[in-house]
Order: sequence, then C-alpha cells, then structure tokens
Amino acid sequence: MAKTSQTAFLLANSGVTETNAYKQELDRIQRRLLADPGDGDALGRAGTLLYEMGRFPEAIAHLKKLLSTHRCPLCKAGRTHYRVFMQLADCYAALNDFQLSEQYYQTAVDLAPARADAYLGLGTLAMRKEQFDRASKFFQIAGDFQPDCSEAFAGLAMIHHQGAEYAEAFEMYLKCLELDTDNLVALLGLFQTSCEMGNFSQIIYYLEIYLSIHQDDTSVLFCLASLYAKEGRLSDARQATMKVLAMEPHKPEAVKLLAELKDGQTETGHRSGAGT
Ligand SMILES: [Zn+2]
Repeated sequence: MAKTSQTAFLLANSGVTETNAYKQELDRIQRRLLADPGDGDALGRAGTLLYEMGRFPEAIAHLKKLLSTHRCPLCKAGRTHYRVFMQLADCYAALNDFQLSEQYYQTAVDLAPARADAYLGLGTLAMRKEQFDRASKFFQIAGDFQPDCSEAFAGLAMIHHQGAEYAEAFEMYLKCLELDTDNLVALLGLFQTSCEMGNFSQIIYYLEIYLSIHQDDTSVLFCLASLYAKEGRLSDARQATMKVLAMEPHKPEAVKLLAELKDGQTETGHRSGAGT
C-alpha cells in the first residue's frame, strides 16, 4: 500500500497504488466537491488520494486550492500545513520540477525544523541535480534529527556509491538494511558493492531475510541462487534455482544456471581467501 510520506527514491521503490478502494473513495469525495467546491476536508483528502495514486497535476490543483481556501480544517484546528507542503514538494519532484519542489520542501522545513522527511526530500533533489556534497549534508541532518531514519543512510550510501567509495557505501547500505530489511534500493546497492568488493556473506543474509517475506520474488531469489553458486554452496544454489524455475519455468538465466550447476561448471570461491 502507498506510504504517506515519500521522497522521490522511495516513490521509485514502492510504485504507485491505484486500487479499487482508492477509486471508490475518490469518487465519493469528488461528489462532495461537486456539491461544495470549497469543502476544505474534501480538498485535502482528494489531494492526498490523487498524490498516492500518482496523479500529480490533479493532486497539486487540489492541494493548492486547499491552501487558498478560507475553510481549511488545518487552520481551524490550529495546525500547520506541513504535510500539504510535503505532498506538493513530492508531486513537483515526481514531475521533475526541481525549483518548485525545493521551494515547498523549504517551506516544510521552516514549519517543522526538527523533522527528518523534508531534509530527505531536499537531499534527494540535490542528489538528482548531482550536487553530492549538498545532498550529503541534508541526509546527515535528517539522520541527526531521526537516528533510526533508514532513508538517510540509503541516501548517504548512494552518494558514496556514485563516488566509487565502495567500503563506505557498503557500511551505509548495511545500516539502512538493519533498520529496514525491506528496502530494495539498499538491497540492490549492497549487492552491487558486494560484487565490487568480492564479499558476499552480508548480502546473502539480507537477501534471505527479504525472501522470507517476499517468497515469490523470483528476481531476488535468482540473485541469491547465483550468489550461493559464487560462494560454492552448490546444493543451496541448486535448491534456490529450482524454486525459481517452479515459479517461472522458462526464465532463461535460471535454466542456464541450473545446467551449469548440474555440470559442476560454476565458479566456486575464486574470489575469497578460502577459495578452492
Ligand atoms: Zn489552512
């Protein structure tokens, strides 16, 4: 299901949700807005739903209307528009309008200076603009405000990774996965840095945890099978490959790996000190 606070790279991670329940609720709210276009509650809810469904221009229109209405439930309750500004910023980030996105994240920071997620947004924007030092500072601030912020570690890891600082990237990906074993961006990053460094024990551990929850993810399972093969764990490799083929019988790389495993041709351990 959709998360309520997404930075751009989390969006890429979780995809966009458009279930029937969302559509039904949106229909209901749009009927309310037909009857009363200035209904502040309905505008806010419609904005959130449209945002979570990935319909960004429509979400922006509703959220801006909420900000301009004189019947805003947030104002009435004496609360700030932090979440509204965050959603506007995330919408503009998704539409690649970096300037407006940054402006709204900055407004969110001004409203709630000690919250991590606006800094995550600013860090992600800076990273997309290849301003890596600046991005790094934002992720560090986010981590200072919220020490268990897995996304801050993922962001720092990605910055080290693009700078080819694999050991530092590896450490940061690990920290992210310790807090959130479900983060696919970090799993993929850990896999890539593991390959750079020839060290597979940690990534195998986190892939196994991920697969204990996502048992039908054949891409990750195949990844694990090839790592077992690299580490010389041939019977584990065979078992994992057969599981992949049970779900996806014609996956060519799995067919090929299984054939190699039967022939005993796979590379075993030439990377590690304990090699054969
Ligand atoms: Zn208001």
